[in-house]
Amino acid sequence: MPDDESSALDTTRRSIRCRYCGQRNQIRDGEDVEARCGRCRLLLSAEPHKKFAALNKDQYVHPADRRALAALRAIPGIDTALKKLLEVTGESAIRVIFTASAVKVTPKQCPDLYAKLQIACTTLGVDMPELFVQQSPIPNAFTGGVKRPVIVLYSALLERLTDEEVLAVVSHEVGHIHAEHVLYLTAARLIELAANAAIIAAPLAMLVKQLMSLTMRYALLAWARRAELSCDRAALLVTQDQHVVGRTMMKLAGGTFASKVDYELFLEQGRDFQKNYDEKALDRFWADIITAGLSHPFPVWRVSEVLKWVESGEYQTLMNLPESGAA
Ligand SMILES: [Zn+2]
Ligand SMILES: [Zn+2]
Repeated sequence: MPDDESSALDTTRRSIRCRYCGQRNQIRDGEDVEARCGRCRLLLSAEPHKKFAALNKDQYVHPADRRALAALRAIPGIDTALKKLLEVTGESAIRVIFTASAVKVTPKQCPDLYAKLQIACTTLGVDMPELFVQQSPIPNAFTGGVKRPVIVLYSALLERLTDEEVLAVVSHEVGHIHAEHVLYLTAARLIELAANAAIIAAPLAMLVKQLMSLTMRYALLAWARRAELSCDRAALLVTQDQHVVGRTMMKLAGGTFASKVDYELFLEQGRDFQKNYDEKALDRFWADIITAGLSHPFPVWRVSEVLKWVESGEYQTLMNLPESGAA
């Protein structure tokens, strides 16, 4: 507390640099607790935010992702089949499928979302992809593309998340790019699209059946579910708060009703889930996820996996890595 009256004017307003995006913000003294950055809208704080100098995907990729990817790559002819599928559907067709009627996010259009994308990219060390917001009642997001990745966020997701939770989702998607998932993930999304949207996707469905065997399709979807676990870790590496990731999952599980859901009890549910599942039944569990047509594994399972990773100490090891030069 300053006791010099003459400095009163200087102490009522002061400048604080946003730890996420670097923007300088003028705040009133005592406002620190709730003040948000004028650019990225994330909470201002004196705590540091780590940016990774040279993060390697092998440093955080989930073992289930790694194993499923190895199994996928071991299928004879898989790469040729995928190459053909993506060649025929083409980058431009994929962009049309993924971005029809969506709003493109730029430094001027939804600037706070653009800032969050920049934060995720600079933290993980990824080139900026294109980002779109699409009207949809389904709270989801995805990343696709062949040469140039595109991230799409559905409006229902944005409407129910806080700014910190939106950062978690954007970072999860940027994680797909960092972990080099995009090509396989796009193929997985095309297969899902072919299976779900019967009329529009009829030619696509035929193509998928022609080019890819049932084994290939199954292995691809099996891998795609497990890939989500790696990207939840990427989301944690950017938000640097496990509970931001946890609350995001809770909202994915509970929807708008999540405001009435107790977060601590949700965590407990996640821990119980982890304790009770039978390792031997794991394959059956993943198979059920695919049969149920879920694009992402259950949020409760995902939050328990994130907590487990934190408890293993691996997350802290990465956080202790040297920084990329200037803070
Ligand atoms: Zn900021
Ligand atoms: Zn994902």
